[in-house]
Amino acid sequence: MTDYDYDLFTIGAGSGGVRASRMAASYGAKVAVAEEHRVGGTCVIRGCVPKKLMVYASEYGKSFQKAKGYGWEADNVRFDWKTLIANKDEEIDRLNSIYIRNLNNSNVKIFEQRATIKDDHTVELSDGTLITAKHILIATGGTPWVDENVPGHELGITSDQVFYLDQMPKKFVVTGGGYIAIEFACIFKGLGADVTLVYRGKELLRYFDKDIITQMHGELERLGVRVITESVFTKIEGKKDGVKKVSLSNGETLEADEVMWAVGRKPHTIGLGLENANIKAREDGAIIVDEYSKTSTGNIYAVGDVTDRVNLTPVAIREGAAFAETVFNNNPQAMDYNDIPKAVFSQPPIGTVGMSEKEAREQFANVDIYKSDFRPMKNILAKSEHRMLMKLVVDGDTDRVVGCHIVGDDSPEMIQIAAIAVKAGLTKAQFDATCALHPSAAEELVTMKTKFTG
Ligand code: NDP
Repeated sequence: MTDYDYDLFTIGAGSGGVRASRMAASYGAKVAVAEEHRVGGTCVIRGCVPKKLMVYASEYGKSFQKAKGYGWEADNVRFDWKTLIANKDEEIDRLNSIYIRNLNNSNVKIFEQRATIKDDHTVELSDGTLITAKHILIATGGTPWVDENVPGHELGITSDQVFYLDQMPKKFVVTGGGYIAIEFACIFKGLGADVTLVYRGKELLRYFDKDIITQMHGELERLGVRVITESVFTKIEGKKDGVKKVSLSNGETLEADEVMWAVGRKPHTIGLGLENANIKAREDGAIIVDEYSKTSTGNIYAVGDVTDRVNLTPVAIREGAAFAETVFNNNPQAMDYNDIPKAVFSQPPIGTVGMSEKEAREQFANVDIYKSDFRPMKNILAKSEHRMLMKLVVDGDTDRVVGCHIVGDDSPEMIQIAAIAVKAGLTKAQFDATCALHPSAAEELVTMKTKFTG
């Protein structure tokens, strides 16, 4: 018996919140979840899923070109943006209803309202209803950030709007050097737009392995994306015909139908009432938690992007699951953040797991590097100049493969499998003992025999 309305009240029905709520309910807890937008959260509604659908759409453009080398005639193909958006919306509606059904089937009560924290055990819904709970889980995710110091910043869109544009931009300018900027530069380029990417630093994706960064830069140029480095937006102006004029710090001006900010995301905690329950947060709003996702207030937990640990959907899901195990199944579990596979769905994509060469050199006395840079067989007849890079980072003393990095078609699919080997701590000798699968691009992972000594 509980004196509270619920054993668990979850704020935010995204990946982490939904997993935690359903698992807690499966352990017998009485659970409710509040969601102010749509059940499914960033990943399903305005992130990973619609983005991946747009990546697929965009890749067809290149495939039609490549098909010519294999004898196909594909000259009169036409792309219709409105069809893509309508079909994407239909799929998002389908997934949204599956998420709702799953919560209902798990006996989790859904409140389609905003909830704010009133005290350690109380939340208030936007209609004024007060609800008490033994535990509160904050899973409100993140929200795109824009630089409000730039005059005209509001003329730029973010990833929240890019999925709902009425028309496909013919000229597209995006700023940022991370996942979102690169993915959308490739999407719109593949769909036929003229694309410029503006980045403040020297090298995109600066937290990736250096060889991956260099390769990706080359691949973006081969794709036809114009990359301007060491520059930021200084002003955005609207013109009468809907065109936007962007001024850059390097003195250049660019014109575009759409201008996009992809300069990071911030934890979504503004107005949540953290102060009402003395929940400690960083200056940028990220909720501070311990290894079990517990906040500074003992009965309140937080998972996912709102804690700004590793901001990826599968991580939020695992954090949510670990929370439910810890609190509702008497089985304390902490998330393991090592060897999380990551992908950038650029064209070609990046797949990476484990340490970069730099990280490995900081940690180990001897590091062996194996690299292969080649034009995949599929690209030869297709007359595509896109290349593939594979790199293994090995601890020279133990022979353990501590990092695997790939740029090239299907690399996210390959890296998910390679991540099992890296996570399992397999050695380079064990990679070598695995028979190659021929002909494939992935066979390079087990046939790289010569240490890179450059
Ligand atoms: P990222 O953190 O990946 O990149 C932000 C970029 O914006 C960096 O290049 C950063 O530069 C730049 N930047 C930051 N502040 C400014 C500024 N004031 N002016 C100009 N540039 C600036 O953020 P994203 O928005 O691309 O993505 C957000 C998060 O979403 C990612 O970190 C990832 O966790 C997740 N995500 C994952 C995806 C996937 O798994 N495929 C896809 C999309 C998003 P600098 O490098 O110099 O700091």
